[in-house]
Amino acid sequence: MNTTDNSGDVRLSGISKTYGAFTAVHPLDLTVPQGSFFALLGASGCGKTTTLRMIAGLEEPSGGTVFLGDQEVTHLPPYKRPVNTVFQSYALFPHLDIFENVAFGLRRRGIKSVKKQVVDMLDLVQLGEQARKKPHQLSGGQQQRVAVARALINTPKVLLLDEPLGALDLKLRRQMQLELKRIQTEVGITFVHVTHDQEEAMTMADTVAVMNAGRVEQLGSPTDLYENPNTTFVANFLGTSNLIEAEVDTKSGDDIVLKAGGGKLVLPEARCSAPTTTGGKVLVGVRPEKISLTHADDAGEIPEGRNRITGKIADSSFIGVSTQYVIDCPVCPEFEVYAQNIDRDARLVPGAEVVLHWNPAHTFGLDAAQDID
Ligand code: ATP
Repeated sequence: MNTTDNSGDVRLSGISKTYGAFTAVHPLDLTVPQGSFFALLGASGCGKTTTLRMIAGLEEPSGGTVFLGDQEVTHLPPYKRPVNTVFQSYALFPHLDIFENVAFGLRRRGIKSVKKQVVDMLDLVQLGEQARKKPHQLSGGQQQRVAVARALINTPKVLLLDEPLGALDLKLRRQMQLELKRIQTEVGITFVHVTHDQEEAMTMADTVAVMNAGRVEQLGSPTDLYENPNTTFVANFLGTSNLIEAEVDTKSGDDIVLKAGGGKLVLPEARCSAPTTTGGKVLVGVRPEKISLTHADDAGEIPEGRNRITGKIADSSFIGVSTQYVIDCPVCPEFEVYAQNIDRDARLVPGAEVVLHWNPAHTFGLDAAQDID
């Protein structure tokens, strides 16, 4: 018979943190399921580290409760919680070799025969060959993997990672993102990862919580957040979005028809987080890579049923796989519209009149009453 192991669940219920009159984390409810890779993503100062530290027991919450599995740990000190934390500053012991750094947690618990566990752990992080080196003889990425091995050997139910790749250069960072994901999949324990890097969160995490000013603004899978952002903050934080001001006209089946300038745009109702009553203001969003560009002279060739707006190319830059365009569109004078195109139409140069068109299914709708970041 299968029993469900939930010992690695993290459950935050109404958890908050204030410093005097300042609220770093507003009451927050969050559940991280056992075995998932969860990212807290947000700009500097949004409260992600404070949230992580409250899970670790390094910060006392001002209100709310923390559960790890079925156990309430809100007021337990860090060492009594089944968690380990990996910090950006790897905090390895400089005088101990890699083997002893990893063995440290076991030895401290009085375990005498540590060899097999340490060797297995070093193999897991692919550092078997480096066991007798000192930390300063390793690269940043290797030191980071030692820090992960040293935490994992304590068999925590949850591994907390606080910007662990922040000190690495971009190439190594990308490698380590994949490496951490591999390790997490292999050991199958819950990882909660704090980062301000949207690409990092999207690459590694099953679920991402986007934080803004002490609140979780949206929670979802990377694809869901990218394709269906609920707020302008999330839309802009996760990549480039084009936002067009429009007004609800009618409904047609599962779609909403909107007026934008003199034209119409169609949006699936399910992808609209704004009120959809006639006359309501909606910010219509579409990602640059979903837009096709057609020179105005060929507008007649654009298939029926696509959303379309007109504009003039303001700027273009070749970025290898595609060309990126900035386009002035009368329908959205407040915004620059970005399009990314793989066509090599030589007429698509600054000054050219173009039609931008896309599949209505790739359109999302945001509440225009929100602040635009
Ligand atoms: P970063 O990526 O820069 O670490 P963060 O999103 O992790 O940012 P936190 O470290 O959680 O942000 O801090 C959230 C807010 O709480 C910040 O405005 C910070 O200045 C404030 N803060 C954190 N610790 C304290 C403290 N001990 N006393 C007062 N304010 C604090």
